[in-house]
Amino acid sequence: METVEVFTTEEKGRGLKAAKEFWAGDVIFAERAYAAVVFDSLTHLVCHTCFKRHEKLHRCGQCKFAHYCDRTCQKDAWVNHKNECAAIKQQGKAPNENIRLAARIMWRIEREGGGLTEGSLVSIDSLQNHVEHFGEEEKKELRIDVENFLEFWPKGSKQFGMQFISHILGVINCNGFTLSDQRGLQAVGVGIFPNLCLVNHDCWPNCTVIFNNGNHEAVRSLFHTQMRIELRALGKISVGDELTVSYVDFLNISKDRREQLKKQYYFDCTCEHCQKGIKDDLMLAVKEGDGKPSPDVVKEVIQFSKDTLEKIDKARN
Ligand SMILES: [Zn+2]
Ligand SMILES: [Zn+2]
Ligand SMILES: [Zn+2]
Repeated sequence: METVEVFTTEEKGRGLKAAKEFWAGDVIFAERAYAAVVFDSLTHLVCHTCFKRHEKLHRCGQCKFAHYCDRTCQKDAWVNHKNECAAIKQQGKAPNENIRLAARIMWRIEREGGGLTEGSLVSIDSLQNHVEHFGEEEKKELRIDVENFLEFWPKGSKQFGMQFISHILGVINCNGFTLSDQRGLQAVGVGIFPNLCLVNHDCWPNCTVIFNNGNHEAVRSLFHTQMRIELRALGKISVGDELTVSYVDFLNISKDRREQLKKQYYFDCTCEHCQKGIKDDLMLAVKEGDGKPSPDVVKEVIQFSKDTLEKIDKARN
């Protein structure tokens, strides 16, 4: 990829920096999911290929579990669904979304190996898993997931060791990216996008991630587009600038953001906004002020939130 470069630093580990200049809204890169699955509660309401929600979906005649918009989506799915389909049919039921995602990743590794795939800057093998940071409760859940995985995984498929299975489940835990339906309103699934995993967090990021469901409406398949994420610039980015996104809601106050980052991503945020508590006074005034906050404060918070959301919205179009 010519638009970005991988770098490594002592304190933050790997990251990505811009290899050319970008302006607000520019697509820095687009990436297809290495693997992705629909959430358990929505498997019959959302297409398993493009993650669009539809009134009427076609059901896979074999496993009766997978659902698709149409033949195009069903055909596109087959390479990733083939093994899953047989395993579900054999067991008579599908395992939960975590296990399904882990299995899709493993079948892809079985097909292509665990090294770099085309267009990727990082291999699945070398993504962070944070398993060594797990507490007792998380370790217990991991053990249950490993058991469920082994129960689902067919004897005829390539066999992986416990440690590697734990690695993949750990990768899903801290790198899973939530996918939304075509209106962008509902979280409907989760996917792994290796290049995106390299983008570090900042509470005041210069990029945002847009999920694009793709489009099959053109008559000629040449003009069809596939489901993908797009990393887009929120403002001007110069060559050599680190690219960042916010892993958490940046409208939360810094204490809440730091807690969530530590709990889910296992690091202490040291960005300028966290260190200085920039804007916290505004957010706190609305959240915890005794009685009602002053109209000026409310106005300022609303303006601040609007400006931020507008910036993201602009990057979307
Ligand atoms: Zn579809
Ligand atoms: Zn099937
Ligand atoms: Zn921060």
